[in-house]
Amino acid sequence: MSLVVTRFPPSPTGYLHIGGLRTALYNYMHARKLGGKFVLRIEDTDRERYVPGAVESLIRSLDRMSLSYNEGPTLNAKGEIVEVGNHGPYIQSQRLPIYLEHAKMLLASRHAYYCFCSKDRLDTVRKEQELAKMPMKYDRACTKLSQAEIEQKLSASEPYVLRLKIPEGETVIEDLIRGRIEISNAEVDDQVLMKSDGYPTYHLANVVDDHLMEVTCVIRGEEWISSVPKHVMLYNAFGWKIPEFAHLPLILNADRSKLSKRQGDVAVEDYLDKGYLPEALMNFVALMGFNPSADREIFSVAELIPLFEISKVNKSGAVFNVEKLDWMNGQYIRTKSPKELVSLVSPFLERAGKSVESGLLERVCTIEQERLVKLADMVDLVDGYLTVPPYEAGMLVWKKSDAADAQLQLKELSLHIDSMDASAFVDIALLEASVKEYITRKSLSNGNVLWPLRVALSGRSASPSPYQLLWAFGREESLARLRHALNQFAA
Ligand code: GLU
Repeated sequence: MSLVVTRFPPSPTGYLHIGGLRTALYNYMHARKLGGKFVLRIEDTDRERYVPGAVESLIRSLDRMSLSYNEGPTLNAKGEIVEVGNHGPYIQSQRLPIYLEHAKMLLASRHAYYCFCSKDRLDTVRKEQELAKMPMKYDRACTKLSQAEIEQKLSASEPYVLRLKIPEGETVIEDLIRGRIEISNAEVDDQVLMKSDGYPTYHLANVVDDHLMEVTCVIRGEEWISSVPKHVMLYNAFGWKIPEFAHLPLILNADRSKLSKRQGDVAVEDYLDKGYLPEALMNFVALMGFNPSADREIFSVAELIPLFEISKVNKSGAVFNVEKLDWMNGQYIRTKSPKELVSLVSPFLERAGKSVESGLLERVCTIEQERLVKLADMVDLVDGYLTVPPYEAGMLVWKKSDAADAQLQLKELSLHIDSMDASAFVDIALLEASVKEYITRKSLSNGNVLWPLRVALSGRSASPSPYQLLWAFGREESLARLRHALNQFAA
């Protein structure tokens, strides 16, 4: 049996999208599961749609997601594209002679023909077909040219394209996800294979490369189903073995429209830049369309690989549920140690120009970890630890109490905190025990004491517990915040 080879061949027309990430991941998992190879290829033969910087961005995103490929381009430390080993180049614009040579083979075997029609003529034909409600296809005028006419046009340097001659009949494939797909060839246009600028079209370059790179399984988005007949015809014309195909369902917005920028971010880097962890994003994306049939949803890619079955991918569209992604990200954040969390949030703080003393930051990470959804949320959260957020005195008053009682409690609490042993401040449990002992000793109620204390320390209506906050701030800052709270009543 031949080695399983899958591939991810993005066109550098933009950034790596969530859908592209899923396609890459499913190709990766399929290859890894079967001990095969996962190849990256840049399909940049459409020079009109080329976006500068897109290749670098695609590769950077794959790197950030730790999606390693066996063959294909990579970036060096300076962010420039370099080739790996002697496998490349897997950048199509660097392989033009290969496509030309293959196009000539198709000309020789009469599977392809020269077309000299001008854009104006093609537009006219299209308009006539539209009016006559006929399928809009090239009318094959150039198939009637004699060899002498072709030679004469070539020697006059008339611009031309090469077209694939689509035979009559029907194309049938067994898609690994969708099962049997039948497409009538009558619906398929004589595809341009080589453009007048000397570049191949996607179809020719894609099939030639899939063959030369020994790709055994093509896993890609369902928008490519309509290209299957052209590809199958090319394989047949060359006499090559046809790979397996698996067309993935669309990714949808919550309203079941196609996932689009209008309803939220679609670029992988946007999610990473907001502080979604790569492993959480990967877990989430993997389960959009694939269910590992387990009673849990948290899986690393390594855990998913043995469970992954391309044939079990859903046929219907997968909804992108950002609430679920948030939940998953939170789950991954909870698994980090406070130190790990510090190093994860630090770049976000740096970018926002915020510097937090390392001890305080580690304490903040410890007590906020339970509530954190995205790493970038820390940028706003730390503000409340650096300075007291503005709040009204009324917020210090517990719902079953009044302003006079709140002030009294804060004054007495200040005395208690001031009297506490320094050793209590190293441990949240000791602080809790001390405050609780104080409440019991004075026969007070929890609400009357803990509510104003928590608000005085945090300045927020929702926050970590007062014991966690006392621990985060230490004695001096805690007392200063209590004094500040008392001043709110005077204001
Ligand atoms: N270059 C195509 C794209 O941008 C690849 C499609 C395929 O996988 O065949 O998605």
